[in-house]
Amino acid sequence: LYVEHPLGEEQSVPLTREQAHYLFGVMRLGPGAPVALFNGRDGEWLAEVSEAGKKGGVLTCSSQTRPLRMPPDLWLLFAPIKKSRTDFIVEKAAEMGAARIIPVQTEFTNSERIRQDRLQAHAIEAAEQCGGTFVPEVGDLHKLDRMLADWPQDRQLMFCDEAEAGSALRLADGGRGLPWAILIGPEGGFSDRERARLSALPFAHVVSLGPRILRADTAAVAAMTLWQQALGD
Ligand code: SAM
Repeated sequence: LYVEHPLGEEQSVPLTREQAHYLFGVMRLGPGAPVALFNGRDGEWLAEVSEAGKKGGVLTCSSQTRPLRMPPDLWLLFAPIKKSRTDFIVEKAAEMGAARIIPVQTEFTNSERIRQDRLQAHAIEAAEQCGGTFVPEVGDLHKLDRMLADWPQDRQLMFCDEAEAGSALRLADGGRGLPWAILIGPEGGFSDRERARLSALPFAHVVSLGPRILRADTAAVAAMTLWQQALGD
């Protein structure tokens, strides 16, 4: 179970109404029942139910069962698409172990707005599902141009572009160990201006994901898999 509260030996963790409903109403747990907790910072802890009520309750931590496992320093930048597909991208990025997930507005991005809190909740759920101890941060919608203007010095960018026929990720020289970001465009792809700008950046590596045009959500998963294979741990 994900909680926001700090975790540690003998630490009491108060539950929200929703958490109490889930543990005591849905899962039918009672006092003394064991629960595994994580908060994205302190690893996984074994706790037991010390107070159970309809509107709340308290768990008490006993011992740490797993240390915090940080993911590789990988960001996923993607242009938000239809709601359900955007949810899918966030969920899969959290499962694949992205450290940050950043929706970006490009020239051809249709959705001007995202629900950051909803997407963050999806990332938490995905981390819970796959037994992670870390929760990636989902950013607010950033303008791609502005992000590129303030780009961190040594972070490499895997710029996925279907126009780049045939150039797979080539990282022989020292890509491992560096921080990376993957960039996936919107359904309409990148504009010529964006393409020219991105291709000229010294930290950008233009990459093809194969000869077919993939949907943006498929492309995000394919790119993370490719990155994982070439550079991940
Ligand atoms: N502009 C295209 C069009 O309308 O024909 C489609 C863009 S595609 C649906 C969305 C994004 O997925 C692209 O901007 C790119 O980042 C990524 N993508 C899809 N297929 C790809 C491929 N074969 N190689 C690299 N990137 C790809």
